[in-house]
Amino acid sequence: MMKYIDAFVSAFNGTIDWTWKSIIFEVPWYTNYFWGLIAISLVVWLLEIVFPWRKEQSIFRKDFWMDGFYMFFNFFLFAIAISGFYKLLGVLFGDIGITAQSLALVDLTRWPMWLQLVVFFIILDFVQWFTHIMLHRYAFLWKFHKVHHSVKEMGFAAHLRYHWMENLFYKPLKTFGVMILGGFEPEQAYIVHFFAIAIGHFNHSNIKITWGPLKYLLNNPVMHLYHHAYDLPKGTYGVNFGISLSLWDYIFGTNHIPEDSGNIKLGFPGDEKFPKDFIHQNTYGFKRGQK
Ligand SMILES: [Zn+2]
Ligand SMILES: [Zn+2]
Repeated sequence: MMKYIDAFVSAFNGTIDWTWKSIIFEVPWYTNYFWGLIAISLVVWLLEIVFPWRKEQSIFRKDFWMDGFYMFFNFFLFAIAISGFYKLLGVLFGDIGITAQSLALVDLTRWPMWLQLVVFFIILDFVQWFTHIMLHRYAFLWKFHKVHHSVKEMGFAAHLRYHWMENLFYKPLKTFGVMILGGFEPEQAYIVHFFAIAIGHFNHSNIKITWGPLKYLLNNPVMHLYHHAYDLPKGTYGVNFGISLSLWDYIFGTNHIPEDSGNIKLGFPGDEKFPKDFIHQNTYGFKRGQK
């Protein structure tokens, strides 16, 4: 029993310690997600200000500060709170003989670093695309995912407005993805993580980018805006589910970009009654009777 308590406490303290060290610049700069997130946010925000797509949209758009809070809440406060539980699960699974390595289908370490990173990125992106579809497909998951779709004016910080439960929904398949790759992230996985944060920020930004012919590969603001459309094509429960890559939507036919004016109604039917503040958005999904 002591072993489990120790694992829990040391992971929890370790994450607090790491976050604090990041804030005071005591970690290598390329693993500093605290200042990295701030730097990417400022760059994308500056580009929104200089090259706005919806010119009438305010620099401090609706819910700007709330989304800023979500950003830090999901990235750091939640990460600290959950770290002990994740560690505990790892130790428990280890004790019954399931380790992250026991599923390894390929030995990534023999490959050149760039290939490891590309494969790692593609597999993680695919399992997240699939999880995202599930969030739209099943009512009990959609209740929580509604938080992300309650955005009425789109800007970069909306990227990280999502219910903390989503971290748990994405976790199983992400872990599975890492497991088939040998149970650990490539040494330079931070490149992939920073790239995904930047693409996610751009996808939600008020900047008209389509990446030209690369739009069939990379998700972009025009495509993702339609993911947030209030009115969906008849007979669908969503379109453009892509996270960093748009590829999966094109392959599986869930792509939908009818025009690119940027001026469409966002949200979902019934969002007038959806809570507008952080606390109630976070309790909404746990209430019975919500759909
Ligand atoms: Zn969605
Ligand atoms: Zn989104």
